[in-house]
Amino acid sequence: YNPVETVRQSIRSISDWPKPGVTFRDITPVLQDPRCFRMLIDIFVARYMRQRLDLVAGVDARGFIIGSVIAYELNLGFVPIRKKGKLPFETVGEDYDLEYGSSSVEIHTDAVKPGQRVLLMDDLIATGGTLLAASRLLQRLGANVVEAAAIIDLPELGGSKLIKESGLPVHALYEF
Ligand code: 5GP
Repeated sequence: YNPVETVRQSIRSISDWPKPGVTFRDITPVLQDPRCFRMLIDIFVARYMRQRLDLVAGVDARGFIIGSVIAYELNLGFVPIRKKGKLPFETVGEDYDLEYGSSSVEIHTDAVKPGQRVLLMDDLIATGGTLLAASRLLQRLGANVVEAAAIIDLPELGGSKLIKESGLPVHALYEF
């Protein structure tokens, strides 16, 4: 019985999506299966339960699904980092390049207090642009970003290396 291996086997690979030559790693089968979903969350909860975190921040949209459940299990608050134009209050934003184009993420200016210890979550690291932009937002608000974490890292795209080189610890359960 190996939860990390069991969850890995539920990640589905879709060839040529969203465009020819790209293999999309689809986590929806993990979320759909109650045992796999719980195993996935428990693996992250075990990693972060003794890290005295203050908040979990999750990136739009799959980072919300796992980040919010991890926050709930750790008795922490959750902060959404959203695609541009979705947040109603005062925001700060960061533009970035991603695997399939360019994008922009925003956070509410009152989402984090200076010095708060924040875990940053997304589902997957490709070029690292998304998590780097999200971490810049948190840092602009004075957060102490403890780690950038994801389920999957695509090391050939160099994103996790870039994040590490920026000085931010990075963690992924799987490399594909
Ligand atoms: P990056 O900014 O690191 O290049 O791309 C990561 C972002 O794109 C993440 O927010 C992630 O959700 C999304 N993404 C890119 N490729 C994949 C993929 O193969 N599978 C999943 N689940 N998300 C992906």
